[in-house]
Amino acid sequence: PVILEVKGLTKTFDTPQGTVTALKDISFRTHQREFVCVIGPSGCGKSTLVRTLAGLEDYSSGEVLLDGKPVHGPGPDRGMVFQGYTLFPWRTVKKNVMFGLELAGRSRTAAEEEALQWIDLVGLTKFANSYPHQLSGGMKQRVAIARALANQPRILLMDEPFGALDAQTRAKMQGYLLEIWKNIDITIVFITHDLDEAIFLADRILVLKAHPGEVQELIEVPVPQP
Ligand code: ADP
Ligand code: ADP
Repeated sequence: PVILEVKGLTKTFDTPQGTVTALKDISFRTHQREFVCVIGPSGCGKSTLVRTLAGLEDYSSGEVLLDGKPVHGPGPDRGMVFQGYTLFPWRTVKKNVMFGLELAGRSRTAAEEEALQWIDLVGLTKFANSYPHQLSGGMKQRVAIARALANQPRILLMDEPFGALDAQTRAKMQGYLLEIWKNIDITIVFITHDLDEAIFLADRILVLKAHPGEVQELIEVPVPQP
């Protein structure tokens, strides 16, 4: 089934220099358990696209449907991982992962129990009581993934999540993410500017191509599976 459907999505920003069109008439859909990468040059609108899907930006026109229902504003049905480690520095790994669960109304004990399962899934059980500054970059991103998955979203939105990591850690993280994706029922939309990363991870690649002053193109490229 189709999880996410984007129809004629357009997003403009009003700036002192005039109106900037970040997304122009973008349409695509993703299916259940699909891993879709969006690639494209800097400034073509990748971040704006995921931020809009996440509900962090409103859209100017078009439609974003999740399970057939229009999306406006953020919600627990979408998990988000950014490039920068957006962990709460004053909270332990466990408390970081518990945050959304408690917000969603879980009791403290239930939130703690569930958080520990997600922490285990990303292999950080030994570090549940550590603080973010005590972790390596890759480990911090694993916490961010656990936190994003904790509310069991329908879709995981990732904006260059491994962009700040060194090549070796990045390769390891790609492996971790694929393992997780194979083990849980999740659809992933993953932004990268790295074509190798996209080919390694994705079932399908969407190339966002911005022609200055012209219609933006979204080219779909299937990736043959080994
Ligand atoms: P990418 O992630 O592909 O590098 P972005 O989505 O960040 O591209 O940006 C797409 C376009 O929208 C760029 O021209 C950028 O300058 C513009 N843009 C993004 N965010 C804003 C904003 N908050 N205000 C004004 N312009 C923005
Ligand atoms: P990365 O994901 O950044 O490559 P890893 O998770 O592979 O890092 O780290 C490898 C191992 O090194 C970890 O499982 C952990 O046991 C240990 N390690 C890394 N950083 C720390 C740290 N700050 N404190 C203690 N052990 C660490």
